[in-house]
Amino acid sequence: MKLVRFEREGRFEVGAVLEDLATVLCVEDPPSTIEALLESEGQASRMRAAIEKGRGSTLPLAALTIAAPLRRTPHNVFCVGLNYLEHVAEGARTRQAAAPTIEYPVFFTKSADTIIGPRDEIPLWTKVTQALDYEVELAVLLGRGGRDISPDTAWDHVFGVCVANDVTARDLQRRHGQWFKGKSLDGSLPLGPWIVTRDEIGDVGSLVLSLHVNGELRQRAAVRDMIFDIPRLIAELSNGMTLASGDLILTGTPSGVGFARTPPVFLQAGDEVVCAISGGLGEIRNLIAER
Ligand code: MG
Repeated sequence: MKLVRFEREGRFEVGAVLEDLATVLCVEDPPSTIEALLESEGQASRMRAAIEKGRGSTLPLAALTIAAPLRRTPHNVFCVGLNYLEHVAEGARTRQAAAPTIEYPVFFTKSADTIIGPRDEIPLWTKVTQALDYEVELAVLLGRGGRDISPDTAWDHVFGVCVANDVTARDLQRRHGQWFKGKSLDGSLPLGPWIVTRDEIGDVGSLVLSLHVNGELRQRAAVRDMIFDIPRLIAELSNGMTLASGDLILTGTPSGVGFARTPPVFLQAGDEVVCAISGGLGEIRNLIAER
């Protein structure tokens, strides 16, 4: 299923994006959140049956106001810092240092209140930061929580995946030592446009992430270029630490971020950032807005 959350006549509902990626099936008695589907197996299987039988009415996706797939997450959003070799290398180059060897995933978190929709404006927060930057990432939504999850069974805990932009204030990221503040400005996690459920992902390694700013390609890589794959990330993160249904893991960004360009380039008011992932995951398209 490709589950999209949208607003219609002042109410939110979850529908299914059909194969053409342009039509939404609106089911009868729809859930208002994807969280509701995670909480109720009955509701999830009713939804699946309705989609399989094509029961409901259809609307063009372009006519809908698409909302963020999730309102918030049970914990902070879990993130992975250095998970693509070329991104590790470009970061080291900016510090004129040798690229470190990454033996274990670098975990950090972002406030769960940062989530915004796939068409919402990203605030520039000019009074707070002069170095707002982008990071396209594959986001993994857990359907089932757990602790000490083994890599072999990690996929059983995944509900689905979507596109994310881990928007980062680079000056704050450095100034405060710990990354939390620079990663947690309001509106710094555009997410969506829909959740592709695990059964529809296919070969996850072959998915290609890309990011354009004002039509210029800045980032492009395949998921298989990750240093630590998704099962390893879930296993390491859940070691001795309970993860919950509804938790979200951002799996790291490839090279091409603004701060590592020569000279560094940061986001400006009016810029349009488009993050996309192949395989039917779609794209999120956000304007940078003075705030
Ligand atoms: Mg990131």
